[in-house]
Amino acid sequence: MKKRVLVTGGAGFLGSHLCTKLLQEGNEVLCLDNFFTGKKQNIEHLIGDNYFELIRHDVTFPISLEVDEIYNLACPASPPHYQFDPVQTTKTSVLGAINMLGLAKRCKAKILQASTSEVYGDPEIHPQPESYRGSVNTTGIRACYDEGKRCAETLFFDYHRQHNLLIKVMRIFNTYGPNMDPYDGRVVSNFIVQALKGEEITIYGDGKQTRSFCYVDDLIDGMVKLMNSSDDFSGPVNIGNPTEFTMLELAETVLQLTNSKSKITFLPLPEDDPMQRQPIIDLAKEKLDWQPTVNLHDGLEKTIEYFRKVLADE
Ligand code: NAD
Ligand code: UDP
Repeated sequence: MKKRVLVTGGAGFLGSHLCTKLLQEGNEVLCLDNFFTGKKQNIEHLIGDNYFELIRHDVTFPISLEVDEIYNLACPASPPHYQFDPVQTTKTSVLGAINMLGLAKRCKAKILQASTSEVYGDPEIHPQPESYRGSVNTTGIRACYDEGKRCAETLFFDYHRQHNLLIKVMRIFNTYGPNMDPYDGRVVSNFIVQALKGEEITIYGDGKQTRSFCYVDDLIDGMVKLMNSSDDFSGPVNIGNPTEFTMLELAETVLQLTNSKSKITFLPLPEDDPMQRQPIIDLAKEKLDWQPTVNLHDGLEKTIEYFRKVLADE
């Protein structure tokens, strides 16, 4: 019997890769999205597959479906997008979690939450283990996302304790690759698109802040492994690539790989922008036998190839 798997946010960057992998692995996939940041192009190769179904729906409203597993990814992930309508962002994380957990409870489905390294805020502990409780400014411009995701984690663990739901909570660190929206404002897509167009590379602040970038195939591999992990393991678990770079190093690598003559320009650092971020992934190694395999150079090459095609079609 095929499993019927619901992917919320399935038309987005990560969701589209997840839908593709789950179908390849022989599941029936229900892709639910309100197309706030997702695109039909990301999943058009799946339309027509008998085991793929697309549902236009907003997770802040309840929905009745029959499913065996739920991957809850619905939520804009790029700061400009989640700050565009911050109230809706919190609703998406909190009401979305309540609605999807309610669905999981009724269906007795296993449910995975796409949480984030943002629950650590601007971390005082470096690198970050899962036990670190975070440093988030509750009233800042990133709080709609950070606190929404933190509350969603709380809801997941309370449904687990109170209703015996099988839950999996994954803290995703910065991920990049094909199907990212070229204009969603995240650093990897911004730098590549700027380099390919010969526009100025926009570094916010002095460029000494760090991030640790994970290639999408590695991330999705970790996500599916977590869903399939032992029932007594709920997480939270960090999934990301621990190799850390400054934004200056990222800009220079992108310029080199694209052979671009773009100049670097420095713009003001956005409020509450975390200064450093690097996952400790010992728990993922131990519990999921997972670790990333794609280095930044190889991952960027594949991503640059994707953006070249996207820009050529514009
Ligand atoms: P994305 O913006 O490309 O995808 C999010 C998807 O959710 C989009 O298709 C969007 O239309 C959909 N969506 C948004 N609000 C919705 C709503 N109310 N109802 C239904 N659908 C809705 O982002 P992504 O990078 O694919 O991120 C997917 C998930 O992973 C998010 O929950 C995000 O917080 C989490 N995450 C991503 C990263 C990353 O680096 N990509 C890092 C940490 C966490
Ligand atoms: N950033 C940058 N230039 C850009 C976009 C982002 O220097 O054009 C910086 C941003 O200030 C942050 C880092 O790159 O320090 C990562 O930003 P992104 O929005 O990709 O993710 P997040 O801040 O959520 O980790």
